Amino acid sequence: MTSSSPTLSTQEIETLSSKANAAKAAAYCPYSKFRVGACLLTQSGEFITGANVENASYPVGTCAERVAFGTAVVAGQRKFKAIAVATDITPPASPCGMCRQFMSEFTSPSFPVYMYDKDMNCTITTIGELLPSSFGPDDFGH
Ligand SMILES: [Zn+2]
Repeated sequence: MTSSSPTLSTQEIETLSSKANAAKAAAYCPYSKFRVGACLLTQSGEFITGANVENASYPVGTCAERVAFGTAVVAGQRKFKAIAVATDITPPASPCGMCRQFMSEFTSPSFPVYMYDKDMNCTITTIGELLPSSFGPDDFGH
């Protein structure tokens, strides 16, 4: 895994943020009423969105980040530049523990996570900051 930080253009960041914000409209969240939109930028320049999808059996629901990554991975994507996550609260919500582990499978510790609040104010962090000392694909020892 590399630790070099990918550089995003202003245009890429603007597109990521606007698509993550727009993706909130696709959320299925009748139970929590907590909309989350995500937009993932692939290394090849594609923007792939996700939103949370809840379920009457609560633990079955899934988060916006995992929907975006799952969609990208089944489309054949394996390398990613950044993800943006947008919610309707302030300060911005950060990805849950399950999503942190899920995203770390396909990213390096320097992978940037842009978190937007209800007014589109941004906090930037990385997977390495969100999930230090993680267990990953390189840790099987074979
Ligand atoms: Zn999550």
